Amino acid sequence: MYAVEPREYLAPVTLDDALSAIAGSDRVNGSTLGVLAGGQSLVPLLRSRQHKVDILVDLNRIAELGGIEPAPDAQDRSLRLGAMVRYRELADSSDVRERFTALSDAALSVGDVQVRNRGTLGGSLAFADTTADVPAAVAALRGDVILASRDRRRRMPVDDFIRSARITALEPGELIAEVLLPEPTARSGSAYTKFGITTNGRPVVGVAAAVALDDAGTCMDASVVVSGLRTGPWRATTAQARLVGGRLDPEAVARIAQAAAAEAPVHTDLRGSAEYRRALIATYLRRAVLSAAVRASGGGK
Ligand SMILES: Cc1cc2nc3c(=O)[nH]c(=O)nc-3n(C[C@H](O)[C@H](O)[C@H](O)COP(=O)(O)OP(=O)(O)OC[C@H]3O[C@@H](n4cnc5c(N)ncnc54)[C@H](O)[C@@H]3O)c2cc1C
Repeated sequence: MYAVEPREYLAPVTLDDALSAIAGSDRVNGSTLGVLAGGQSLVPLLRSRQHKVDILVDLNRIAELGGIEPAPDAQDRSLRLGAMVRYRELADSSDVRERFTALSDAALSVGDVQVRNRGTLGGSLAFADTTADVPAAVAALRGDVILASRDRRRRMPVDDFIRSARITALEPGELIAEVLLPEPTARSGSAYTKFGITTNGRPVVGVAAAVALDDAGTCMDASVVVSGLRTGPWRATTAQARLVGGRLDPEAVARIAQAAAAEAPVHTDLRGSAEYRRALIATYLRRAVLSAAVRASGGGK
């Protein structure tokens, strides 16, 4: 099956030009507008004709949408990642690997080498698929997205940005421009673990966890987010609250993971039943928290 080719193809080299091209609406003069990042979700949709685009705006030549660097505002001790940063760059970056390990774990777990070479951070967040790995990691690391349109910039936590699978806060005329990850405190660690059944490894369930410990090894902060659910990334708030204040020993974490699995908004589909997903969440949540704890105490970075 061949894709219906867009009538017009635009490849701006500045963000301002891209924002002008998409300004106002997702339809321009009655034509449907599409935005191309890594193309790893959009192109298959075009090829299968589930999606039709008349005007395609390609973000690949916009240098200012790339880069992994300290946030430009010196007050803001965050790492800034451009929306067009590829999974491969996330996995290769020593900044990401050492301080935001859950994100490098998640990026490294996506698909195969071709998908990781093309797929982008912004594309994964904007598409917000049920089976996306990276959004859960960004949420667990308490990342914010910066949304840009011709007239304004706005910043919001990824928790608020993804409202449900495939539903985000993006408005017509807006792009994700960048992601900001707050600097972790001392003795922090994070991890992403997942279970996938297909060769390209999309998660049936994945879990991202970030923890901070005090000098005695007591958990001072915990952030735990599950991927693979139709709700979009699901924050396990009860588990987070129960982790804080205790030591992260395997038995205690296993009990908390079991309780989180019981309350998770699981669903049944061809890839697994609701009960199977609960069992996976119990296992993978325990593994993610324990490996984040090992990293927080200085091991396994
Ligand atoms: C074989 C295969 C295996 C895969 N396996 C996995 C996996 O294991 N785990 C996983 O998480 N994913 C997997 N994926 C999906 C992959 O992660 C996609 O890359 C991702 O979903 C979309 O990112 P992209 O950069 O390719 O975006 P595109 O496909 O270019 O765009 C996707 C959507 O997001 C919009 N968009 C893109 N960038 C922006 C932006 N900056 N601002 C606003 N809107 C934007 C586009 O308009 C489009 O609607 C797989 C894909 C393939 C083909």
